[in-house]
Amino acid sequence: MVDLQSQYQKIKETVDQSIQEVLNSSAYINGPYVKEFQADLEAYLNVKHVIPCANGTDALQIAMMGLGLQPGDEVITADFTFAATVEVIGLLQLTPVLVDVEPDTFNIDIVALKKAITPKTKAIVPVHLFGQVANMEAIMEIAKEYNLFVIEDNAQAIGANYTFSNGLKQKAGTIGDIGTTSFFPSKNLGCYGDGGAIFTNNDDLAHTIRGIVNHGMYKRYYHDVVGVNSRLDSIQAAVLKTKLPLLDSYCNSRREAARYYNNAFANNPNIITPKSSSCGQICNQCDCHVFHQYTLQIKNGKRDELHQHLLDHGIANAIYYPVPLHKQKAYVDERYKEEDFKVTNHLVNTVISLPMHTELDEEQLNFITTTINDFIK
Ligand SMILES: *Cc1c(COP(=O)(O)O)cnc(C)c1O
Repeated sequence: MVDLQSQYQKIKETVDQSIQEVLNSSAYINGPYVKEFQADLEAYLNVKHVIPCANGTDALQIAMMGLGLQPGDEVITADFTFAATVEVIGLLQLTPVLVDVEPDTFNIDIVALKKAITPKTKAIVPVHLFGQVANMEAIMEIAKEYNLFVIEDNAQAIGANYTFSNGLKQKAGTIGDIGTTSFFPSKNLGCYGDGGAIFTNNDDLAHTIRGIVNHGMYKRYYHDVVGVNSRLDSIQAAVLKTKLPLLDSYCNSRREAARYYNNAFANNPNIITPKSSSCGQICNQCDCHVFHQYTLQIKNGKRDELHQHLLDHGIANAIYYPVPLHKQKAYVDERYKEEDFKVTNHLVNTVISLPMHTELDEEQLNFITTTINDFIK
């Protein structure tokens, strides 16, 4: 699905040198690279505060702690996403409220979201799934109307832009009260281990969160709140500082591969290609989608057969995600009604994600698309 080795070979010299510097300095924790990467990412995202942490799941948990959410508070998120989002809601004894997604963008459905709001609702967690920014304009309007916090789970969409109807453009993850991300190796901006970060434009919130990530300390050895230990280590920060300047070109490489896929499947009546929300096409201006995944919907009921057929031909592919969260044992709840999850229940049986990374060449893309078009007609 990804080719991290070829990507590494292209930046080996600079990245090795920066890692060597950390080793020479032995500043393994909170070394200069952590501060430098933090500042670079703040500039790139045009956000006031980036708080690095240990991974994207911690980032979500810390965001919810930072907002002071209390047990019993309801947090609305999408049924069709990676479990980390709902996991931390449960872990903090908040009440997860899962809602359906849109059939074309796979992102949280605005009508369903609005319907799920109760007097106990405190926050919305839109997930910018597969690299495409959710409908943030509508989400921010709803949040304002009902006085809710918005935490953007931006683990899959770092680098994406969102354009509001008035033309204002903002980076994904910097629109809500807090944005979170993951630097897991296969994410669009990946390090060589685990890493994550929290973004906010709110000074007070940033201060609170900086204490939470560091054992609840605002003054050394004075623990004002219950915190956690969640750090981005210096070696990972060194890798990320080297890779951040390449993020836009990495996003473009992904978009180019997506464009190739889209063209190849354009006339296949049994394949639905992913849709970019703004213009419905993929261009380098339409930068609301950074293709963390390239995900097809197979219409003729042969998704599982295609999955096996591709594996038999040595083509990686994956089903993201095979089970809706509301059907996962850990998150079942009698409040949920199946008719409220029509889209997710359908998608789990029709979606298939193809290889998507920065190093795909035309020969590979041709082989993948020809194999698929020969099998699904
Ligand atoms: C990867 C991912 C996470 C978790 O990130 P980790 O760094 O692996 O903890 C959270 N949410 C989404 C949508 C993700 O894709």
